[in-house]
Amino acid sequence: MNDEVLQRIQELYRVENWSAGYFDVSSRGELLVRPAPGDARWASLKQIVDELVTERRQQLPLILRFPQILASQARLLCGAYRAAMEKYGYTAKHAPVFPMKVNPRREVVEEFLKDTQRYRVGLECGSKPELYAALAQPQSAESLLLCNGFKDEQFIRLALLGIKAGKRVVVIVEKLAELRLVLRLYREHGIAPWIGLRAKLYSRGSGKWASSGGEAAKFGLTTSELLKCVALIREAGLEDRLTLLHFHIGSQITDIKRVKNAMKEAARVYAKLRASGCQLEYLDIGGGLGVDYDGSRTRFESSVNYSVQEFANDVVYTVKTVCDEEDVPHPNLVTESGRFMTAYHSVLITSIRDEIETFADDEPEVTIDDDDPQVITELKELCDGINSKNYGESYHDALEHKDELHTQFNLGLVSLEDRAKGEVLFWETCARALRESDEARFPQEEFEHLKRILAAKYLCNFSLFRSAPDSWAIGQLFPIVPIHRLDESPDEFATLVDVTCDSDGKIDKFIDLRDVRDTLDLHSYDEDRPYYLGIFLVGAYQEVMGSAHNLFGQPNEAQIVIDADGRYHLTKLIAGSRIHEMTALARYEKATLLESFRKLLTARVEAGQLAADDADRAFRDYDAASAGTTYLD
Ligand SMILES: *Cc1c(COP(=O)(O)O)cnc(C)c1O
Repeated sequence: MNDEVLQRIQELYRVENWSAGYFDVSSRGELLVRPAPGDARWASLKQIVDELVTERRQQLPLILRFPQILASQARLLCGAYRAAMEKYGYTAKHAPVFPMKVNPRREVVEEFLKDTQRYRVGLECGSKPELYAALAQPQSAESLLLCNGFKDEQFIRLALLGIKAGKRVVVIVEKLAELRLVLRLYREHGIAPWIGLRAKLYSRGSGKWASSGGEAAKFGLTTSELLKCVALIREAGLEDRLTLLHFHIGSQITDIKRVKNAMKEAARVYAKLRASGCQLEYLDIGGGLGVDYDGSRTRFESSVNYSVQEFANDVVYTVKTVCDEEDVPHPNLVTESGRFMTAYHSVLITSIRDEIETFADDEPEVTIDDDDPQVITELKELCDGINSKNYGESYHDALEHKDELHTQFNLGLVSLEDRAKGEVLFWETCARALRESDEARFPQEEFEHLKRILAAKYLCNFSLFRSAPDSWAIGQLFPIVPIHRLDESPDEFATLVDVTCDSDGKIDKFIDLRDVRDTLDLHSYDEDRPYYLGIFLVGAYQEVMGSAHNLFGQPNEAQIVIDADGRYHLTKLIAGSRIHEMTALARYEKATLLESFRKLLTARVEAGQLAADDADRAFRDYDAASAGTTYLD
């Protein structure tokens, strides 16, 4: 591949910066995936998608899930803590826990629990359904099952079932009332879970979730509540069950300084409780370990200014220092890093289906007739006379002329044909001015705005609300890259719109090293050959938070493993939602729908308005359509 193209592709998509070594551009211009950073094995995403689409008849959108990446991220996390503990002479262990709310899919949870011998990954649940699923999973004896979130009696009863099944269930108390429930059930049944206390820290995180920490946080016990809990636990004779202190200062902490501050405070709380006689064994530091979505390595919301090793070093060093000062044993460190463990492992593949025309594009050149109104002839002159010196001024003049054109039209002075002509000339003038601006050494701000307006709008076969809801809800950026044609320089700039009937169903913010881009550079769309885009780093939160807006359902899914000789295997195909499943979700029973539709047809036949065999065919078609996909075919 031509070096110049390669460099441009790197500048546009920054794959090296955000991919953490899992994705890469091949010399054939295709995106590659690796099972682990630095691994020699790889597979081409384009080849995988081609096989899925042509041989396996899987329609887009597609979720590609790479379980090896989950395992690799767990290894990296545990490796970072092990290295930090060795480096600083930490004398307790790391206890990794996977928080199910980040991605509760069975395949994801099973992957983490698989390697029970080496890492002893535990689970964290924040609701009864999560706990219900977790209770039946085989876990290694030492691994933890943590119960977070607000709890009622049913929740705690479920937790006690886990104790009966031999699990190390820790009920983490968020409120005094929860502790009272635990103690009451203990008095009634003589069985108690392990107990954790969630502290409200004064320290806060940074980025979007900063308010998860601090004094006004939704969760956690104040200092006086914390002390009250300890007293109640002692009174009940359950001191030996009080095993863990927990805090969580928010997800995607963008600034490493915040982590250090929170650790100092939390370690001090642990040490004081320990010194007062509580036999706490675990300090649970929650989540917050962020993912560098835009590859900028900054404190920006979609980025982080640290590596996993720096994060682990700061945590371990701070806790060790405080504990040594206070002369208490080092606690086992529980991490609940969900985003870090899952974000990389799944990719959403969509295809561009069409270009939405927003203004006169691809129009034949306008010719001027003698009887054209003056506003048109002047626009034509502006358009023809544009050059590198006058493009700014010409653009301003064109704006005025466009207003004038519409004023005259509203007064009845300009025909529809002339209005059309004038609009074509206006947009052509804008496009030419933008071209001049792109070549200028110091592009002006207003042309950025024009660029956004003139950007192609590509219709992509997916639902933003289903597959990347955080893009809509909180303006989260995800890297988006074509998975092929990366040996050609892109010549279009575009924004993306999805297939929902919602004008918010669009992506017009893209990653950049210094800024956020309003448009994405893409190849020009050609109806005759597919053009696939990957939306990356969607493995954390997106799947479970995705909604059924417009009744679009789950995309088809493929799980892929890359084996020792570098071949990939499709280890599992999971069919996406069918139309009848999505209508059932909105409480339409299939049988009732069929019966009602049949009645409508029968009435038409009886009235002599429809032939009986036509009605039969229509009914069969209606029935068959229920098994169809919810996305564009
Ligand atoms: C959401 C949550 C996590 C996961 O946080 P990440 O930043 O995704 O790692 C961990 N612990 C608690 C208590 C949470 O609420």
